Amino acid sequence: MYLFVFNYEIILRIFRHFWKFIPTYVHSNSFKQSPPMFYRFKSFVFSVALLISYSSAQGQVTEKQYLLGQFDPTVHPDFIKPADIYTKGSARNQWMRKEAYAAFVKMAKEAKKQGISLVIISATRPFATQKSIWEKKWKEREALPELERAKNILLFSSMPGTSRHHWGSDIDINELSNAYFSQGNGLKEYEWLKKNASKYGFCQTYTSKTDGKRTGYEEEKWHWSYLPLASHFTKRYEKTVQYADINGFLGSDLATELQVIEKYVKGVACP
Ligand SMILES: [Zn+2]
Repeated sequence: MYLFVFNYEIILRIFRHFWKFIPTYVHSNSFKQSPPMFYRFKSFVFSVALLISYSSAQGQVTEKQYLLGQFDPTVHPDFIKPADIYTKGSARNQWMRKEAYAAFVKMAKEAKKQGISLVIISATRPFATQKSIWEKKWKEREALPELERAKNILLFSSMPGTSRHHWGSDIDINELSNAYFSQGNGLKEYEWLKKNASKYGFCQTYTSKTDGKRTGYEEEKWHWSYLPLASHFTKRYEKTVQYADINGFLGSDLATELQVIEKYVKGVACP
């Protein structure tokens, strides 16, 4: 919003700068006798200024909006739509950061050579997408008291505004199921990822909590963070986002009580 206002101010200033010459121009060209033409010219200039300020505001986003997922990845210059061969399900229409995608493609190609298939099943989910996931689960659990309801959803799903899927650096791979990764092909894929993903910058964010080193979400063998980007965003999140920023969805008033920033956003195996 700040950038939008800033741009808008600049354009208005430029506009005012030229504005004062307009009457002279009009006078010297005998336009003075035809006011309608003059007003049409004025409205034309104003429309162009408005259009320029609107288009320059597209794709620009403050750091806080970015971290909260309040932007459109499809118009953001740092994002790319992954090729269909690397995605399935809802990821087909989701974008991700260019660097993270390039690293994933390298990793998937190398895995393929070793008989391991890796596919992205979820990539960037903006605030609105996370809100619909959260609120669907919120309504499905209506029988539970609100605090229990939120805790139950938080086993595997983030409150909107607190998900690493907002950042374009994090992806879910192959299946959303720990059971899948515990046997057969899934186990082979998981073993391969554990051994090799770090070479490409990826880390399993939500590991087992049994050693007591991590708080927050349960283990997710499918969720991988591209650390060259994600580590930076984690640090910036701690500095930039406050509880007052986490709002706009059912149950958001419980964020403070549940300490979602301390326990969930910071509850990662690879900070
Ligand atoms: Zn995930």
